[in-house]
Amino acid sequence: MKRIYLDYAATTPTNPEVIREMLPYFNEIFGNPSSLHYFGRQASSAVEKSRSIAAGFIGARPEEIIFTSGGTESDNFALKGTAWANRSKGNHIITSNIEHHAVFESCIFLEENGFSVTYLPVAPNGILDPDVVKKAITKDTILISIMHANNEIGTIQPVKEIGKIAKENSIYFHIDAVQSFGHIPLNVDDLNIDMLSASAHKLYGPKGIGLLYIRKGTRIQPFMTGGGQEKKLRASTHNVPGIVGFGKAIELAAGKMQAEAEFQKKLRNKLINNVLENIDNSKLNGDSVLRLPNNANLSIKFVEGEGIILGLDLEGIAASSGSACTSGSLEPSHVLKAIGRAADLARGSVRFSLGRYNTEEEIDYTIEKLTAIIKKLRKMSPLLK
Ligand SMILES: *Cc1c(COP(=O)(O)O)cnc(C)c1O
Repeated sequence: MKRIYLDYAATTPTNPEVIREMLPYFNEIFGNPSSLHYFGRQASSAVEKSRSIAAGFIGARPEEIIFTSGGTESDNFALKGTAWANRSKGNHIITSNIEHHAVFESCIFLEENGFSVTYLPVAPNGILDPDVVKKAITKDTILISIMHANNEIGTIQPVKEIGKIAKENSIYFHIDAVQSFGHIPLNVDDLNIDMLSASAHKLYGPKGIGLLYIRKGTRIQPFMTGGGQEKKLRASTHNVPGIVGFGKAIELAAGKMQAEAEFQKKLRNKLINNVLENIDNSKLNGDSVLRLPNNANLSIKFVEGEGIILGLDLEGIAASSGSACTSGSLEPSHVLKAIGRAADLARGSVRFSLGRYNTEEEIDYTIEKLTAIIKKLRKMSPLLK
């Protein structure tokens, strides 16, 4: 059966060029980068090359890049690390109510440990108003953490404006850029960012490798302690093949970003417009312009998201309802709730996220199958009787 992958926001396949670059680092250049001998030095120089690529990509300095095990660790590190290191200054943290669970759960953990967290509401288009952030600041605020692009509805937050507010108030600013890194332009100085999380497997790199950008001078406590790797900020022997792959993935993304975004946006818009025109009682979730070029999150009334996903899967099409972490539970996603989608529309939601390897034919096929599936599901729906 022909399979169509439209779930690139959940993960991406590792690019063959990335794999080729990684392979020697498993058994030929296998040294521990902390070793002083030849084997170690070779591995270390590969790690530093990737660090430079990553830093250059976001306008940072190499020493400001810390490699981690992925986006989840980077988010945990940024939040818990700055909270612990700055608790003598204050105990208040500001975030939004549409964050990824990696940020959410870190906030809940910090609340259980003496910190106070404000979860700011977004507007119905899924965008956070910088003025709302400004008003939430207290004399105890030590950190603002806002995601750059949302993993479910793709909305892109005004991080530049929020970063300016944070800077004016001498508050650290962290962004979860896991969905945007390698997909839309990012510059840490331009956006006034102090910390940034990214993960390789969302940009055609391997799983289990991520980074946290930490602006020089930021007070942060190590999250992993042990050997003194990564300037004592992140212990554990480097994942050298992963780091090499991450560097290559960034290099490839940097060269293609704009062309890929344009192509995906064209296909994505075709998909959205077709659904909105041909399926009555359907709605786009999140702002139609301020969104990732590859994201189409749609709510379709009188059907269940799970039903749509299973129907699509039978036709060979992979999409997602809610986020990969929450699907499996019937609870509507916190993001759809946050943008005010009533239960009926939130339950009938489906996320298509396009990527590097999609074609126009695949989108045409998806539109055709989706329309047929909705028709069939609605015929059987108790909601319509
Ligand atoms: C995927 C994702 C994460 C988690 O990254 P992992 O590398 O899978 O741990 C965090 N935040 C966002 C926005 C994501 O999309």
